[in-house]
Amino acid sequence: MSETRPLRVAVIGSGPAGIYAADILTKSKEVKNGELEVSIDIFDRYPAPFGLIRYGVAPDHPRIKGIITALHKVLDRGDIRFFGNVEYGKDLSLEDLREHYDAIIFATGAIKDANLDIPGVELDGSYGASDFVSWYDAHPDYPREWPLNAREIAVLGNGNVALDVARVLSKHADDLLVTEIPDHVYEGLKSSPVTDVHVFGRRGPAQIKFTPLELRELAHSRDVDIVLYEEDFQFDEASQEAMETNSQVKVMMKTLNGWLEKQKEEPQTASRRLHLHFLQSPAEILGEDGKVTALKMERNELDGNGGIKGTGEFVEYPMQAVYRAIGYFGSELPEVGFDPVRGVITNVEGRVVDNEGTPVPGLYATGWIKRGPVGLIGSTKSDALETITHLLSDRENLYTATEPCAETFSAYLDSKGIEYTTWEGWHKLDEHERALGAATQDASGEPRARVKVTDREEMIRISRSL
Ligand code: NAP
Repeated sequence: MSETRPLRVAVIGSGPAGIYAADILTKSKEVKNGELEVSIDIFDRYPAPFGLIRYGVAPDHPRIKGIITALHKVLDRGDIRFFGNVEYGKDLSLEDLREHYDAIIFATGAIKDANLDIPGVELDGSYGASDFVSWYDAHPDYPREWPLNAREIAVLGNGNVALDVARVLSKHADDLLVTEIPDHVYEGLKSSPVTDVHVFGRRGPAQIKFTPLELRELAHSRDVDIVLYEEDFQFDEASQEAMETNSQVKVMMKTLNGWLEKQKEEPQTASRRLHLHFLQSPAEILGEDGKVTALKMERNELDGNGGIKGTGEFVEYPMQAVYRAIGYFGSELPEVGFDPVRGVITNVEGRVVDNEGTPVPGLYATGWIKRGPVGLIGSTKSDALETITHLLSDRENLYTATEPCAETFSAYLDSKGIEYTTWEGWHKLDEHERALGAATQDASGEPRARVKVTDREEMIRISRSL
């Protein structure tokens, strides 16, 4: 054990979870009062930083993307290093990291779709929302093409991802040109013949997982009417209580009721419609010749306790595509315990534990891979604070790395032939993407803020250019 050198910390994942954890550690009172010195490196398997914010937030949500500005400032300080295009488990093993770092914080998020176990889920035209999100956010590992040939589309789920997917699918492509969508996404959406997008929630309107701002935003899409069904507006005692005690539910019910009234009073003339259905669970995706043709839903009723039960009544809707937005799921990482039910690293308050529940020295988790894919980006901060508090209280026993790190780690990556990118490299890519945006125009003739580079090799080339 040596405390005469900085504590070396590796953070795996440069999304908000990883950057918040690094920031909180550097600002801890132990570091501030000189009791502890830290040296932190953040790794990401993609050449660019920011994880979910770059590759998960919808392009028409610049307000959320603005969080990047705050994260930028953290890395611009220069006391935390960034190594992009370096994948844990492929380029670096746990042993490699253990040699160079005293503590490793996993902040790898949750990017897979949760499984939906119903017949027909494998049909052509049945998609996981996260794949679609990766496509429209120009993720480097996803194909450029996305099949947009359906006129009637179902989106399963009543969370904010379902809203993102439904909004992007129903919007007119020209209205997305103000955002950073690349040409292939614009062209794909422009060619879409969609007329109707149906969002299905299995519970009632008072049990939605949307948030008020995101729900209200649906009404801002040009030439898209919102369609509601009065028979779905059922409330039991638990719903009444939720509407009275939960301010978010109260606000969202006001929004939904307002839309319901409006649709009774005003004719709906838009060329596209976004339908919100409640109290229906997916039973089967129906198809012909391997392709989706319809969706069979079972009607539910409220059980009085905030839950639902099936009624045995089924409704079939003609659909040519079904998007499953029923939640994300974490991916298992090599050599780290994983809970296959919750899709998280096995941990207790951010300390990684083994099968017996014993903490594994030096290993930590934060963000969605720690607690599951719930909560807005801000909740990741309190989560990181908990993990870092434990790391700090363990610190006396953490000085285990045998190899020097800060000065020589770049050389180590070079010796392994890894084409890593750096924070300076991100600045180059950032400038390049902004210049691409400035050179093009949106539908109103204004220069665009950014156009993302989508090709991984191109991202690496620009980031590593001299
Ligand atoms: P989520 O909020 O957990 O919503 C998942 C939805 O899927 C729920 O309505 C859930 O219904 C439903 N569901 C689950 N299993 C189902 C099944 N078998 N059949 C039918 N429906 C099923 O998850 P999410 O939408 O993926 O969002 C993840 C987190 O990211 C959330 O905290 C969200 O707010 C956040 N986010 C925020 C934004 C933003 O713009 N602010 C955008 C995207 C995501 P039950 O409620 O009945 O379980």
